[in-house]
Amino acid sequence: MTPRETLDGTELPRIIIPPPGPKSRASAKRLRRAEGAAIWGAEESPIVWSRGKGAVVLDVDGNRYIDLTAGFGVLSLGHAAPEVARAVSAQARKLTQGLGDLMPHETREKLVRKLVSLGGGVLDRALLASTGAEAVELALKTAHLATGRRRVVAFTGAYHGQSYGALTVTDYPGLGKPFAAQLADLAVRAPYGSDAAFQIIDQALDGSDPPGAILIEPIQGRSGCVIPPPGFLPKLRAYARDRGLLFILDEVMTGAGRTGPFWAWERYGEAAAPDLLVGGKGIGGGVAIAAVLGRKKVMESWRAHVLPSGEAPHASTYYAHPLACAGALRAIERLTKPETRAHVERVGALFADGLRAVAAKYPAIGEVRAEGLMAAIELVRAELTGRVVAALAREGVLAYPGGVHDNVICFTPPLTITEEQLRFSVEALERALQISCGMYPTGDWK
Ligand code: PMP
Repeated sequence: MTPRETLDGTELPRIIIPPPGPKSRASAKRLRRAEGAAIWGAEESPIVWSRGKGAVVLDVDGNRYIDLTAGFGVLSLGHAAPEVARAVSAQARKLTQGLGDLMPHETREKLVRKLVSLGGGVLDRALLASTGAEAVELALKTAHLATGRRRVVAFTGAYHGQSYGALTVTDYPGLGKPFAAQLADLAVRAPYGSDAAFQIIDQALDGSDPPGAILIEPIQGRSGCVIPPPGFLPKLRAYARDRGLLFILDEVMTGAGRTGPFWAWERYGEAAAPDLLVGGKGIGGGVAIAAVLGRKKVMESWRAHVLPSGEAPHASTYYAHPLACAGALRAIERLTKPETRAHVERVGALFADGLRAVAAKYPAIGEVRAEGLMAAIELVRAELTGRVVAALAREGVLAYPGGVHDNVICFTPPLTITEEQLRFSVEALERALQISCGMYPTGDWK
């Protein structure tokens, strides 16, 4: 093991001790003793990361992995992207905090104008936030001010974050349950990707507390890369327009080029253009930033709510944090280059083909879903998920579980990952399935 080895981020894995190794176990144990239980699940000893570069991450035991998680899709340009690191460090020497609603800073101006330039000519205003959930809530607040309505159509299997406002629209098993008594009943829940959604929304619109907006992920992320039928989003968009509902897209996971185009809705053109769009994760290239883009008319509804004191109606201490703004600005420059999209579409298609070839041999995989570099395999039995994820890690490839039935393995690699790293990952998945499913390639159970 050479702890100070130089990485260029395109390496293949090197497992020197089966993970989680002794140092990971010891570190996790110390952390678990000191940390609040909220962030810990049943897993006793996770792999503890020490450093990363590109699509590669090292653990504290010196194991080297291909990272197909990219930190839940955040690391669009990979770990420690040099241009982001340079921008953040230059900003760190220049200005590290602004004054929210009182005194903006020049990097904020640049980022907000950059985001507006990504609005496809329809979203001509932007607001910033630090997390996806915060940005979702900013969109919900905006929609409420614009429509005067309280309720929002949200979908089965939706994941919009875990703060209280975001939880009201999230539908992920168990998450809201302990807080049910405190969560407002805001959501009109409609089935994702199904035409039955339209009757449910119709009924809600006829009721005494009609919704004012529809909030949807173009492809569901945490539910395991669930892709709606091709016509669904345009149809929903047209329906929203007919009924006077705001159409809000949550592109926290699908944005920043993850599915190919910078925003997933662009695939459909004007027919799926939102009134409000929520972005996060990948737009920062590794810094904590999120945003709401919106149509001027909708975003202007805040104007009437300036406080009697003259203060802004929305603010947060870390609004437009300079380090995050600088990193995001630089990340977006690279993410919007045509080469980035071309690479995502080319290697994404190869990865999806590879996953489908494995699925054809292993009946343990029920379905493969992929768009660009957002992919998932759905397993036929939930108890396989943890086993396959662990076996895959022992092969040197990191992925994460998902799906409302806990039976999905999600892949959201850095958009800069190499073809060779993806090919290796597919082969590793096949070995992991062989080991963990006890199943021959023909599909007979051992
Ligand atoms: N929306 C979507 C679609 C997401 O995938 C996530 C995070 N997985 C969020 C919102 C919440 O973002 P955050 O965790 O940054 O609050």
